[in-house]
Amino acid sequence: MDRTGAAGPRRRFWGWGHEGRGPGPDQQAGIARVLSERFGVALPPPIPEPRIEDVVLPVPRVAPPASLAHLCSTDREDRAGHAYGKSFRDVVRALRREFPNPPDVVARPRDEAEVAALLEWCGSADLVAIPYGGGSSVVGGVEPPREARRGVVTIDLGALDRVLEVDRTSRAARIQGGVLGPSLEDQLRGHGLTLRHFPQSFEFSTLGGWIATRSGGHFATLHTHIDDFVESLRVVTPAGLVETRRLPGSGAGPSPDRLFIGSEGILGVITEAWMRLQDRPRLRASASVAFADFLAAAEAVRAISQSGLHPTNCRLLDAGEAATSGAGSGGENVLVIGFESADHDPAARMARALEIARDHGGVVPPDAGRTRADESAGREGAVGAWRDAFLSGPYLRDVLVRLGLVVETFETAITWDRFPAFHRELMAATGDAVRRVCGAGQVTCRFTHVYPDGPAPYYSVIAPGRPGSQLEQWAEIKAAASETLLRLGGTITHHHAVGRDHRPWYDDQRSDLFARVLFAAKQSLDPQGLLNPGVLIG
Ligand SMILES: Cc1cc2nc3c(=O)[nH]c(=O)nc-3n(C[C@H](O)[C@H](O)[C@H](O)COP(=O)(O)OP(=O)(O)OC[C@H]3O[C@@H](n4cnc5c(N)ncnc54)[C@H](O)[C@@H]3O)c2cc1C
Repeated sequence: MDRTGAAGPRRRFWGWGHEGRGPGPDQQAGIARVLSERFGVALPPPIPEPRIEDVVLPVPRVAPPASLAHLCSTDREDRAGHAYGKSFRDVVRALRREFPNPPDVVARPRDEAEVAALLEWCGSADLVAIPYGGGSSVVGGVEPPREARRGVVTIDLGALDRVLEVDRTSRAARIQGGVLGPSLEDQLRGHGLTLRHFPQSFEFSTLGGWIATRSGGHFATLHTHIDDFVESLRVVTPAGLVETRRLPGSGAGPSPDRLFIGSEGILGVITEAWMRLQDRPRLRASASVAFADFLAAAEAVRAISQSGLHPTNCRLLDAGEAATSGAGSGGENVLVIGFESADHDPAARMARALEIARDHGGVVPPDAGRTRADESAGREGAVGAWRDAFLSGPYLRDVLVRLGLVVETFETAITWDRFPAFHRELMAATGDAVRRVCGAGQVTCRFTHVYPDGPAPYYSVIAPGRPGSQLEQWAEIKAAASETLLRLGGTITHHHAVGRDHRPWYDDQRSDLFARVLFAAKQSLDPQGLLNPGVLIG
């Protein structure tokens, strides 16, 4: 049994994934050697993984009523495991064995009535309630607020993990909010259907979390966010249940679904959703195209995104990013492009996309882009290297944190007309901050999603940290990057959500009047302000 009560390997309470997975000691030593050479510094030995016995927690301030006690845990590992999300900041603090502010109680409701009962308890005892899916938030979305004087109950939705109904005709399913990505796909597989929503955190994030954060997934174009797949919702709020109507489309006023999509747990608990599904693709074509110049490659991506071809994958990696993932040698920028279909051969669309790439100076390897019907399509060569690096990335990130590095990402979006100057200035400002704060380091960029009117660039920072100062170092770099991207017209987040960590910049980005509207919605649904205070508003 793991700490969530489910059979299977144990989840790490302090970082990403399952215990025992990720790079082993030899690989860690190799990684340390490469990075020491790259940055010209000797990296310290990795900080040992914390053991739960080393962690001291404050005594819980509240105890559940007898009627809910069977759903609630005050176990040390449970509370520590729900104290943080999975950002760099979270892992650094957990590695320091610092857990000053865990939830007092972790509750695991098994149905909607129990969710409602837990909210009722929180209301009557004036407790903070934090909806919790997989806990993969990287923006402080599941962390108890520091200023909470009252007790905190984290409502872990992991037991709401079933696909309840499949409508094959309309290609949709009614799915509970707490289901993790792999289990969701397992339950749909027998029906020949898939949600095809694969954020990098897929293995340890949930449907409800994806909807609550407007997560960005598999599709690099067209259906980039979870939003488009939501057909209807059930949300338990302190003021009652909200259920929206299953419709393929509707013009009946502002969309109630859209009010809850992206609400980050401040308006209610998403217990169920009808989701639009896809047939499982049978035919896939993928290719990698090399470009000498990043901005020329970006122009190729613009042309492809405006062509109406709608590639499933269209991820541009700059030279540093390509080298890190093994998709390039470090001298070239790499565009990973893919099409897939359950219905027709995407060969013609791939051929046209590669033609566009060539017209913009891209070098297309011979035989690239062939349609394949076997599962290994997209798992070989540069495309496969990128995919493997994407999947193992979170485990590697935790090893880098243990080696004392400052290693984090941020993402944004900007229209194409402003992209070249935006990218230049953002890279310069972030690079300057990295050198000033860390002495050396690397900033790289890739496009995670692209739209006809602009890309969503995603920046990765890796730099040697000063022992004991990594958090302050990252805070300075993050502030420099965030201020620059906001000043230049970007968004503070494209798909990682706002949480608590992005508040200063989100508050600048949105209008005061919109903040008042959101606050009014919150007051109607959660008049006592129980749910996730400090996230988005308040
Ligand atoms: C290594 C890594 C890679 C990532 N890659 C991606 C990526 O590719 N794309 C992407 O979009 N994000 C990514 N993220 C961020 C994160 O995985 C997403 O925000 C994800 O949607 C969170 O889902 P979760 O179930 O883990 O939610 P949690 O982290 O548990 O919660 C996130 C927020 O949603 C609220 N919430 C959770 N469940 C519910 C519910 N049922 N009802 C109401 N509110 C709820 C919480 O209160 C919190 O505010 C990544 C994170 C990590 C650590």
